[in-house]
Amino acid sequence: MTLIQRLRLILLPIILLTFSITGALVYKTVFDRHVDSEYQRVSTFLDFFYKEYQLELTSAQSALDLVLSSNELIDFLNQAENSYTAHMLHVMLNNQLRLVQQRLPGVRSIQIADYMNNIVISAGDEDPFKDPSWPNFPKKILDRHVGSGGSYTLPIEQHILYSEQGGELSLGVIRRFSSELILQDKISKNSSTYKAIYDAKAVSYQHLVEALSQDFKHGFALTIKPNFQGSDTVVHTFGAFEVGDDLFVRKVNDWFTIELTIDENNMITALSTLRWQLLVVILSLTISCYIAIWFGIRRQVITPIRQLVNSLQTTHNVPQIEKLSGNSEVARLNNAYVDLVDRVQYISNSDRLTELGNRQSFDLCLEEEITRANAGQTVVAVLHIDLDNFKKVNDHFGHQLGDELLTDFSTRLLEFLDSKDAIVTVSQRRKVDYIARLAGDEFGVIFNNVADSDSAETIALEINQYFSSGFNLQGKLLDVQVSIGVAIYPEVAKSQAELVLYSDEAKHQAKHRGKNQVQVFTKEIADNLELRKFIESVLVKSYHGDKFELAFQPLFNSKTMEIVCYEVLLRCPMLAVHGIGPDKFIPIAEATGLIRLIDLWVIENAFKAHNRLVEQGYKGKAAINISALELNNPNFPQELERLLTQYQINPHTIELEITETSLIDSGEKTERILWSIKRTGVNLALDDFGTGFTGLSQLAKYPIDTLKIDRSFVSNLTTDNDNQQTMFNVIVQLATIYGLDTVAEGVETEQECEATRAKCTYLQGYYLSKPVGFDELVEKIEDSVAETT
Ligand code: C2E
Ligand code: CA
Ligand code: CA
Repeated sequence: MTLIQRLRLILLPIILLTFSITGALVYKTVFDRHVDSEYQRVSTFLDFFYKEYQLELTSAQSALDLVLSSNELIDFLNQAENSYTAHMLHVMLNNQLRLVQQRLPGVRSIQIADYMNNIVISAGDEDPFKDPSWPNFPKKILDRHVGSGGSYTLPIEQHILYSEQGGELSLGVIRRFSSELILQDKISKNSSTYKAIYDAKAVSYQHLVEALSQDFKHGFALTIKPNFQGSDTVVHTFGAFEVGDDLFVRKVNDWFTIELTIDENNMITALSTLRWQLLVVILSLTISCYIAIWFGIRRQVITPIRQLVNSLQTTHNVPQIEKLSGNSEVARLNNAYVDLVDRVQYISNSDRLTELGNRQSFDLCLEEEITRANAGQTVVAVLHIDLDNFKKVNDHFGHQLGDELLTDFSTRLLEFLDSKDAIVTVSQRRKVDYIARLAGDEFGVIFNNVADSDSAETIALEINQYFSSGFNLQGKLLDVQVSIGVAIYPEVAKSQAELVLYSDEAKHQAKHRGKNQVQVFTKEIADNLELRKFIESVLVKSYHGDKFELAFQPLFNSKTMEIVCYEVLLRCPMLAVHGIGPDKFIPIAEATGLIRLIDLWVIENAFKAHNRLVEQGYKGKAAINISALELNNPNFPQELERLLTQYQINPHTIELEITETSLIDSGEKTERILWSIKRTGVNLALDDFGTGFTGLSQLAKYPIDTLKIDRSFVSNLTTDNDNQQTMFNVIVQLATIYGLDTVAEGVETEQECEATRAKCTYLQGYYLSKPVGFDELVEKIEDSVAETT
């Protein structure tokens, strides 16, 4: 999962949760406030109801006051049973009732009853022909008022609150009075008592219920408990609701206790808009916050990390990743990475010993320079520098001095090039990347500021000159110079690979020309190189296709002229048709390393041929050429041993020829391998003797059996060159001293044959026999045996 996906996964829920909790808290606060304000409102309703109720009661009391103080009532009481006074009282009551009704429409009746609760006069009854009936309030309350005035323990006036069947609240007022009290201001024990009864619908209560129903549609419960004796408990429930987190209001006053419960759904519904608003706010806050944070993180964290990753993926050159300023984690990560890679790159791009660049940095640098040259149509020159005789220094004075030589050379080369403008240092590259140690004593230099190959050659010659006096290290004067190959792009080399290859090839040519030389890669060298490539490919094909063949050249005993040995010579028919013989292709096989396989092939096939000859009675030897490279191959003696055993060859009948030049640079290792070869039982011959200038005294070190004196000495033997003749004689005498056999190579004429017969043990040359095929060799051997017998 990417960082951004992870962030998304964490960020969104957290922001949502935060705002949801905040929203819930806000809602809760608002809800509580709302409940508080509702409480206030409801309290006001109830207070108003109480006031209105009091007003109703006062109205009822004053109506009764008026009735009780009226002349009509006095007349009636004085002349009881008088229909006139009764009628007048009835009229008065009705008038009074109507007057009250104008203000309080809920008034139902005003009645007068005697002490036995018989209604005497009634106003407000709908049907005047019917007997007046009692109001609806509970009878038992009235019943308490039965009896004469003196026995009463009840107050003079009592008011009743009761609910009718419809649930409406009604108000009743009963006031007792006596005729005597009114008339005499004094009440006797036996005086008859009456009651004035006032009955009305409680309009105040109706108003309260209406107001509550209007405002709390989801329901409420209203309970009124009168605090005075003899009244009902009135319960009014509106709507159906479960008791929960409801609003509860209780009011206690002189007359009653009111309990009101408001269903919480009323408040919840009232806040529904707020809830929607909150939801919208939370969602928009969440989204905008998320976007803001996301953009912030993206800008500050993700983008820098992505840029870092991108630059890591798209470049191999760390300098393209720039250090970031600031102290953020990303900047620190970036900078730590750049530092780390710088260090790794320094290590991987530097040569430990000389602190110059190495092959890797050299290749990278060259690649960049070629790109630049392509763009700017300039040229790039490469110098391949090789220290002459470095191996000798190493072998004779040890690796420490060798290392010192390399370091000293590097420092001086750098100093010399610093004094030239041959190298343009490009900001992104170190100067030492242009000067690299490519291998052991091999150095490469890149010039990107030269006009053509001539100016490159001029600087190369200057370098050559600069080091021509050798090195003075540890008090030793070392005869070490440099060989330099120069190639130029795009004039001659058409690619980076060619540029490196050509400068290297030119350097080989410089060495070939005798060291301490500068060689510019030319058309001729290019052709040579082309030819070499061709030969290489044919050799590989010939080896894998088993297309090599062997030729055999007899060696004659100089006394008896009997064939006592034959030299095995490799032939490559696929190259022979192009006139290319082993002289040309063997060095190339050596350069590619293919020679090791070829040598073993030759030995194996020579052994097969030799066994066939032995089967036919041949008693002589076989001489097989091996490459100088085998003297550095510790496995060679074992391979030889294996083949000798496999083909059951008598090792004394085998002579291996090594060229004298292969011993020139030889050290202990070569000697050890030579001795190992010798221990297999084979003989060793030193080929082309006289061309390699082996110190004659050195001969004693090597287990050599035969010297093959080079053809050049033989051909000079018949000329007037006294020096050469003397040389030949010295070699022969020396061989005698060391007990070595001698072969005169390349005997081409009768004179040469005669001249060498007396001096050498064996003779070999066209005059006696050219290299021939196997069958011809068999014939020649048979002939020579026949002749000598
Ligand atoms: P080499 O070992 O000196 O072999 C003798 C070369 O001299 C042969 O050339 C031979 O044909 C030539 N030769 C013999 N008599 C005369 C003569 O009277 N006049 C002249 N002008 N040349 C004569 P070849 O066969 O072309 O071989 C050339 C070189 O190739 C050999 O020189 C040897 O160094 C190398 N070589 C040949 N075969 C092998 C092989 O099987 N293995 C290895 N490693 N090197 C081989
Ligand atoms: Ca030879
Ligand atoms: Ca030879």
